[in-house]
Amino acid sequence: MIEQTLTSKWFFLFLGLLVGSFLNVIIYRLPRNIDWIFKRSHCPHCQALIPIYCNVPLISFILIRGCCLQCKNKISLRYPLVEFITGVAFFLLSPEYFQSTSHPVIQSLLALSIVSILISHFFIDLEHFLLLDRLNMILLGLIAVEFLFFSHQSITWHVVGGLTGFLVPFLISWIYLKLKNRIGLGGGDIKILGILGLSLGAQKIMETLFLSSTLGILFGLPYLLWNQNKKSLLARPIPFGPAIILTYALQKYTSLNMGNFFGF
Ligand SMILES: [Zn+2]
Repeated sequence: MIEQTLTSKWFFLFLGLLVGSFLNVIIYRLPRNIDWIFKRSHCPHCQALIPIYCNVPLISFILIRGCCLQCKNKISLRYPLVEFITGVAFFLLSPEYFQSTSHPVIQSLLALSIVSILISHFFIDLEHFLLLDRLNMILLGLIAVEFLFFSHQSITWHVVGGLTGFLVPFLISWIYLKLKNRIGLGGGDIKILGILGLSLGAQKIMETLFLSSTLGILFGLPYLLWNQNKKSLLARPIPFGPAIILTYALQKYTSLNMGNFFGF
């Protein structure tokens, strides 16, 4: 009975909201090099300590109407959004999703650890144009455990996927640099494509590369136009990481075969 409750998707939804609250701390502090374990949360505007009772995921944000209790400045919508997305991801990828596998609980926890890193990457890249190496190292470790212990494919299949994911964008970026004398694709993007290639295999990582470039351009251009003045538009970077992460999640966890959809 207890085991059933602890592995139900509703329990995982609750767990996901709590994890989302923790990811908010990581997303804010990691790129700013702030201690993320021992330091209590502060309002980013007035530095007032955030009371413990204001740390309840989603509910606190609604109760305080998205404003700091001290200075009344608006608190970013990112906070409830990260909690919501993490909650939904935990609900969808609870052990029930992995029921047909040999170790549903372990595989679910592994997948959710990977997704948590990807959610952090997504929002950090959106704000800072950075895919942090520290997160990439953890991601690499988790994906290695996943394919070494729980994959039906051979190790060679995964390694070829990783090499394709790394070398193809590296080559494109190198050619672009030679031709234009400018960096086209960031180092972080190339590294994450290599790591995700280990998980997806060669064909799907190529599809991911193509689809995420399309997505990046589709969403990136209006984002740039809206965010800053229009001077030297093409010289400004587009955060490509979110598009890669979104495409990876769809390729990996939905039955929607995006490759077929685009006629690969
Ligand atoms: Zn404040």
